[in-house]
Amino acid sequence: MIRMLEIIAKKRDGLKLDYKDFEFVSNGAARGLIPDYQISSWLMACFLNGLDDIETSNLTRAMAFSGRRLDLRGIKKIKVDKHSTGGVGDGISLSLAPIVASCGVCVPMMSGRGLGHTGGTLDKLESIRNFQVRLPYSHILKQLKAISVCMFGQTEELAPADKKLYALRDATRTVESIPLIVASILSKKYAEGINALVMDVKFGSGAFIKDYYKAKKLAVSLVRTSKLLGIKAVAVMSNMEVPLGRAIGNGIEMEQSIRILKGEKIADDFEELLYLLCGYVIYLARIARNVEEGIDKARKAVESGSAIEKLREMIKWQKGDARVCDNPATFIPKAKIVSYVKAHYDGYITAMDARKIGWSTIALGVGRTKAEDPVDYSAGIWLNKKYGDKVKRGDIIASVYGSDITKINECIKIFSLGLKISSVKAKKINLIGEVIK
Ligand code: URA
Repeated sequence: MIRMLEIIAKKRDGLKLDYKDFEFVSNGAARGLIPDYQISSWLMACFLNGLDDIETSNLTRAMAFSGRRLDLRGIKKIKVDKHSTGGVGDGISLSLAPIVASCGVCVPMMSGRGLGHTGGTLDKLESIRNFQVRLPYSHILKQLKAISVCMFGQTEELAPADKKLYALRDATRTVESIPLIVASILSKKYAEGINALVMDVKFGSGAFIKDYYKAKKLAVSLVRTSKLLGIKAVAVMSNMEVPLGRAIGNGIEMEQSIRILKGEKIADDFEELLYLLCGYVIYLARIARNVEEGIDKARKAVESGSAIEKLREMIKWQKGDARVCDNPATFIPKAKIVSYVKAHYDGYITAMDARKIGWSTIALGVGRTKAEDPVDYSAGIWLNKKYGDKVKRGDIIASVYGSDITKINECIKIFSLGLKISSVKAKKINLIGEVIK
């Protein structure tokens, strides 16, 4: 494969690649036309010598065009998606999509499954009985035209090059390259045909990139590359040192989101981030003059009941049992066993390590350790106490729901490793870092 050898050599020698080079690699990877060893050595050359902004945007476009793009030109509304780099208890999308759609934004939201210790939006949605996330393009288009919101899984046709390149990055230790991460995330977003994108880039123990400055580099590159692709973009940096909200798990996070959409006050941190992200989505969709007005519109959509009605419509369109909106506690799968993490001393909670708590839920059966593993929709943790709270000996810190006592005990063991109670007050954690525009 002479052409591929030339492309590898160009990047090995630190030269710039053009769109045609990326198109050749992306199409070849998607169709199985280039041997894995050549793609792997090209990935390592990209990892070591980097890609500039123009190269990153060209790779992103080429990866998106390795498959089929959603053609949303027939929809007049501004199309906006939201993306999170992944966290623990981060069920924001479940509330955000119906809120902003009820404010007039069109939201084609392609979501993913749980990865490592972090949860996945599709798994949470599937805790609703019969809810369908594998939808044909024709259905996605029809639903978006009718109700302006659709939450669906990646199809085989959408950015197929990413699947192949990601598998080889994983096998060659080249995942941690900022341009390769950016192209991977944005190729799927570009293929959705959106006009704007709001990103939640996490930092802290439970984040994909823990270090603030490295996460910021990713956020800056995501925003710059989006703009080069003609997508308006904002990245909010948010802290993932401790879990977000009170629920961690599939059904339990779905239930929490429904209760929030019905106006219940559950967790300040979850609401702060939710409404900030909603504000940016509504602002980028030009439905508000500024973020503050966007936040106000989002809050009113919850107060008026239009957001929960939008969720109900979406569930019906995706064949799920919409009675979950009336009574989430009855229609979300129930765990057989509940056990508790209790405080051993009086004091303040000064650590609640998001990564350890994320892994504790994997032990519980919330996520997968292998791609083919089933997930337990009823399993999860409810945080009765949050980071910084004052506790007395014997107080319940967390309720652990599951179907297998061995798994529950393992979960509690791992959870406890991430927990610290001290006599001195906890340091304040700032949830929101910089906003990259
Ligand atoms: N998420 C993605 O979709 N791709 C990456 O490379 C990393 C995180």
